[in-house]
Amino acid sequence: MPVKPEIEARFEELKSIRQYLHSCPEVGLETVNTAAFVKKQLDGLGIGYEDIGVNSLLAKVEGTAPGVTVAFRADMDGLETCEETGLPYASQTCGRMHACGHDGHTATLLAFAGYLAQHRDFKGTVLLLFQSGEEGYGGALEVIKDGLFEKYSIDYMFGMHNWPPYGENQMIVHKGTAMASEDRFDLVIRGKSGHASVPHACNEPFAAVADFIKNAQSIVARRISAHDKGVISITQVHGGSAYNIIPDEVTIRGNVRTTDPRVQDLIEESLAQLAQGLEVTYGVKAAFTYHRKHPPVINSTPDMAIAAAARVVGQENVLTEELPAMGSEDYAFYMQKTKGCFVWIGNGTDSALIHNSKYDFNDKIILLGASLFAELLDEVLSAQP
Ligand SMILES: [Zn+2]
Ligand SMILES: [Zn+2]
Repeated sequence: MPVKPEIEARFEELKSIRQYLHSCPEVGLETVNTAAFVKKQLDGLGIGYEDIGVNSLLAKVEGTAPGVTVAFRADMDGLETCEETGLPYASQTCGRMHACGHDGHTATLLAFAGYLAQHRDFKGTVLLLFQSGEEGYGGALEVIKDGLFEKYSIDYMFGMHNWPPYGENQMIVHKGTAMASEDRFDLVIRGKSGHASVPHACNEPFAAVADFIKNAQSIVARRISAHDKGVISITQVHGGSAYNIIPDEVTIRGNVRTTDPRVQDLIEESLAQLAQGLEVTYGVKAAFTYHRKHPPVINSTPDMAIAAAARVVGQENVLTEELPAMGSEDYAFYMQKTKGCFVWIGNGTDSALIHNSKYDFNDKIILLGASLFAELLDEVLSAQP
């Protein structure tokens, strides 16, 4: 098994690090104790670091000669849910849970840090980014805003995510888009309120609401090519307060996913047109706002990752034709700034899905993920002149 023996030798210690992190999750940008714990581990390894973003930190390992700068990223935050695994190391706080495996990602990057501490004989600089607030809190943007790409000329950046229900020895590399974009929209439709018995004297907004909801789906069916992917979901409708009052205002909210920036543009434009058309058809006011939350994760160096993954799990266990996930990842912002790849590692076919209250990270990924990072570094170094 081509897991790095130096990493495997620390498995029991790494497992207890992961399980400790699992027991005390922190949410969003408030990863204060987690960051402090990571710093203590890095101190023990003799690796320096600096604060970056909000409660994120960047460790730096200099090689023996100048050269390429390669960054690796782990997310550190948990989710606002109550754990139901019954595990001895389960979260001690109901309402906070490592239900996405970021405890495992943090332990994996620490495992790689330990490996680097023993292998500084390379040309270049390795940066290890431990990031807060991946789960919709803008952690990556805070890191970028704090000058990551101004302070360092990063040539490559890599990341990984555990992925149920793929097998625990499988690695998934997408040749292009790995994960979808996520956008959000609000539409406030304003008509004229009045007595339910005289709709002709009012301007009830619900007909416009129904029209919008129905026709939003025809954007997916009729404006997006059958070869492209797009999801539009209406997730909230708020309006009205009584059986006998026609309200003057209804708010619709929704969520959009695509794997292609061109489709993203098309959906935004089409939804805005649909909203505008309601004003003409129904005589209402339609205030539409569209917010781009995450771009798609687009892998620019899949071949490097495929080669590195094959050395760890064998070519037959590297899947390259899997569909991208329609979920999003703020790692996408880094891929707008530099080259790199985001690899999924199977969490086991019997694993609960991520974000489920019975989910747990598969500790074997620590060995596979850290070995993958070591191989990715080799892959980059061997590509240098
Ligand atoms: Zn998640
Ligand atoms: Zn996650």
